Amino acid sequence: MDNRNKEKENLEELAESLVYKGKNVWETVKEKEKEKIFALGEEYKDFLDKSKTEREAVREIVRAARERGFLNLKEVRDSNQLKPGTGFFDVYRDKAVILGVMGISELSRGIRLVGSHLDSPRLDLKPQPLYEKCDLALFKTHYYGGIKKYQWTAIPLALHGIVVLQDGRKIEVVIGEDGDDPVFTITDLLPHLAGEQNKRRLSEAIKGEELNVLVGSIPLKGEGYKEKVKLAVLERLHRTYGITEEDFISAELEMVPAGNARDIGFDRGLIGAYGQDDRICVFASLKAVFDIGIPEKTAFALFVDKEEIGSVGNTGMQSKILEETLQHLMEITEQEASIYKLLSCSQALSADVNAAVDPTWEDVMDKLNAAKLGYGVCLTKYTGARGKVDASDAHAEYVAEIRSLFNRNGIIWQTGELGKVDQGGGGTIAKYLANLNMEVIDCGMPLLSMHAPFEVSSKGDLYMGYKGFKAFLMDS
Ligand code: MN
Ligand code: MN
Repeated sequence: MDNRNKEKENLEELAESLVYKGKNVWETVKEKEKEKIFALGEEYKDFLDKSKTEREAVREIVRAARERGFLNLKEVRDSNQLKPGTGFFDVYRDKAVILGVMGISELSRGIRLVGSHLDSPRLDLKPQPLYEKCDLALFKTHYYGGIKKYQWTAIPLALHGIVVLQDGRKIEVVIGEDGDDPVFTITDLLPHLAGEQNKRRLSEAIKGEELNVLVGSIPLKGEGYKEKVKLAVLERLHRTYGITEEDFISAELEMVPAGNARDIGFDRGLIGAYGQDDRICVFASLKAVFDIGIPEKTAFALFVDKEEIGSVGNTGMQSKILEETLQHLMEITEQEASIYKLLSCSQALSADVNAAVDPTWEDVMDKLNAAKLGYGVCLTKYTGARGKVDASDAHAEYVAEIRSLFNRNGIIWQTGELGKVDQGGGGTIAKYLANLNMEVIDCGMPLLSMHAPFEVSSKGDLYMGYKGFKAFLMDS
């Protein structure tokens, strides 16, 4: 009997030292740290509420940077004050922004960069959106990014964006967020009459051309024009914003879920909100770059647009904005090294969300390799689909470096894969950072209901992501 107990004990010890086990943030951190986790959650929700579009996020990032004394690169050049610890930023077309803090070592020794994306799936208005049918006024939309279209019906939507007039003036629009504001909505068929619709495949339950948003119902009084509800909407828009129907053509108006970020659960451990892919990483890396003091290497937080549609366009990661900002910096610091040499001795985290195991849909995951809510920031060695196609597969050497960094700094982390092999997959900006010859690995927080109008994250994971990004940016 004694012997057997002893054996059992030995096995436990052996397992303790050999078996890999993830840690639950809530079970691991002390009470003091829990307070910090909840405080960070409050700040994050506030950031989400102010940053529902890529333009709003850029504005919020620049506002926060200015508050902390960051200068735009032109001001840095003019004032000649680029020294270790100087914070700077570079904005591209109000949709992408690069923030940095000068390090102690020369730029040519490489940089540290955390890159995330500001855009989220949504419904964009078409260039000619407004029409009248059945005495109701509606907007036609063209969805942006990968959505399950049926999720966007029968919920309150808000309209965010800009209209640019012919003379270049920009009219900003936000309708549906204040308690007094009206909201908009996409109607769905009542179950009583959905017999035919119910036979459709789920992916076609609502088709793209059926994502039409209800925007008006009261006709103008008078004669001489048939579509009086549409005209009433135009008349009101003209009265409020001074715009006409043609102005929609030079507008970027987005329908997003209306309402603020909320706590989820009796214990308030989770956050539910629109746009957490990828603004959870945006917020965590922004906060991190503000809190690093004077880093060894020059530290960057890069925020790009268009990730959800392939990182295309001149504000996406496939554009040359990072190279341009680095070129500017080289000129200001009068350094002559090539930016590609600099990039090839640089390290990056592609900060993007991963899928968490959903208790109702466990089957799509290989649970041995799936991320879980509450188990910390997630390292994803590779993304891609059908045999890692299109993945930037991080090198084992680099994974070891990051793992060691996180362990040294008490950061709770886990690994994840985007679902079972052959189940599906996806990509991030990692491969475009890798194209610049940087070391890069995907690192971000897991979500439930990713790309849905209401995504779910863990406050514990957010906190570990923030700590992880900060440790990474401060590392030499
Ligand atoms: Mn993403
Ligand atoms: Mn996404």
